[in-house]
Amino acid sequence: MLMALLLSATLTSAQTAILPPAFPWNGASRALAVPANDAWVTPSEATGFRTTPRYDETIAYLRKLVAAAPQLKMISLGKSDEGREIWLVIASKERAFTPDALRRSGKPTLFAQASIHAGEMDGKDAGLMLLRDMTVRGTKRELLDRANFLFVPIFNVDGHERFSRFNRINQRGPEEIGYRTTSRNLNLNRDYMKADTQEMRAMIRALREWQPDLYIDLHVTDGADYQYDITFGGNGTFGWSPSIGAWMDATLRPPVERGLREMGHIPGQLIFTEDPLETGIIDGVEDPRLSNGYGDASHIPSILVENHSLKPYDQRVLGTYVFLEQVLRVLGSEGASLRAAIAADRTRRFDPVPLTWRVPDGEPQTIEFLGVESRKTLSAISGDVRIEWLGKPRDARVPFRKTTEVATSAKRPVAYWIPAAWRDVIAKLELHGIPFERIAAPREVDVEMDRFSAPKFDAQQFEGHVRVTATATPERRHVRYPAGSVRVATDQPLGTLAVLLLEPASNDSLFQWGFFDSILSPTEYVESYIMEPMAEQMLAEDPKLAEEFRKKIDSDEAFRGDARARLQWFYQRTPFYDELARLYPVGRETR
Ligand SMILES: [Zn+2]
Repeated sequence: MLMALLLSATLTSAQTAILPPAFPWNGASRALAVPANDAWVTPSEATGFRTTPRYDETIAYLRKLVAAAPQLKMISLGKSDEGREIWLVIASKERAFTPDALRRSGKPTLFAQASIHAGEMDGKDAGLMLLRDMTVRGTKRELLDRANFLFVPIFNVDGHERFSRFNRINQRGPEEIGYRTTSRNLNLNRDYMKADTQEMRAMIRALREWQPDLYIDLHVTDGADYQYDITFGGNGTFGWSPSIGAWMDATLRPPVERGLREMGHIPGQLIFTEDPLETGIIDGVEDPRLSNGYGDASHIPSILVENHSLKPYDQRVLGTYVFLEQVLRVLGSEGASLRAAIAADRTRRFDPVPLTWRVPDGEPQTIEFLGVESRKTLSAISGDVRIEWLGKPRDARVPFRKTTEVATSAKRPVAYWIPAAWRDVIAKLELHGIPFERIAAPREVDVEMDRFSAPKFDAQQFEGHVRVTATATPERRHVRYPAGSVRVATDQPLGTLAVLLLEPASNDSLFQWGFFDSILSPTEYVESYIMEPMAEQMLAEDPKLAEEFRKKIDSDEAFRGDARARLQWFYQRTPFYDELARLYPVGRETR
């Protein structure tokens, strides 16, 4: 009884998250919201941004809007793992409702997706307002004169319907929200390369079909407190698409930030550090498993938007609206220069191809940072430093580090050869839109192949996979590839993406994600009664081998004490040993 009382008392006191103080806000963008009695009020506006609509209510609003607006059409990109449709709204003045028609329109196209993390649904409610204002209400109709707009209101549709007051402990509204991950507990923003989910496969197909000029992924932060209400960025000028990065820095960011400020918002760089006033901020390259990393690797200009979770919901939704509006304006006037940047990056052939980056040595530059005052004390609960955000602005110059230096890279081969049996791997390349040649008859090719040793599996699974890395020793081989095998040339716009998927040293390679685990186990064995006399004979016939064995015994204590390893050492030196053991089946065609 006492236990039950204590338990219920705890539950009651933990019903509301204790957030740091809010900043007062009354931006000019408030005027964008229509009154509750407007015929086209969105569900969230109708409650003064206290709530966000469920999936059915969202789709019902959009259906009504599409029925009334000739510039709009809704199509399904496919179904989620739980069977919900993922809707795309196409906004086009000329009613160019197919990928071909949209391309023929000649106008640049913005593709924005909301709710990839369905607790972060600011983009959904902003998009509904903007689509209405571009069409039936007419206040932003001119945006469609010079650009097309594609909008996915809810990407993680299953997570969105896991609706609760308790899904985000660090977010100021709306009252109830969806959940970060999908019905299979997968994070869509880690799924861009491996594409495990139906949701991601639908999105990747959509990106290939619709070929947007700009791709925006709308989120809400976790983490530190600061004054900015909307932060955004991409992989910068030092990733896989430097020309696109330069366009975003020089052409997109300044007018978008200006437009946001004019409407009362506080835009900034992406901030992923816990205590930026203390440690500064880092501008890094995201791996391609994430939306903006994937966009960068495949030369689709991509922007990650992180609204600040501690700002009130109305401020965040309105900031997203202004952001999308400003981006559409820039796209309308600067579409030609963006397309030139895309073309430059699509013809770029990195060799070597950077795989990871780091911050170079030396003093970092500094930037002005709009932070929040904090107090740090020793915590009796954690035993570590406790940080309390005090709700008072504090501006300071902080270090701004950029990961401009390549840390690891891989040689770019002329082509990769994937044997026909690896159908799942070939299917991934096909999904990603990477062109390849499939051979109809067997072909003999000289290739370089990696022989793995010392494979290491992570102790924990990550996104349903156990990451594996291994030491690779390349060797030259003459291989007969069966019919149905594929040759993936790297001299193509998606060549760098192919390298990132197929080089085992790449963090997001299909090898590290575990698609090739089966090759890591030797599958034939030898008995000691066979290996003992053979080893004797080998030692007697080959003095060099005998010397090598003696040295190994002397220098390697673990080996010395491992009877099986000692016999295995000889087995590996007989022609009976599996010559394909731990051989990465993907071959590199080199010059
Ligand atoms: Zn997110």
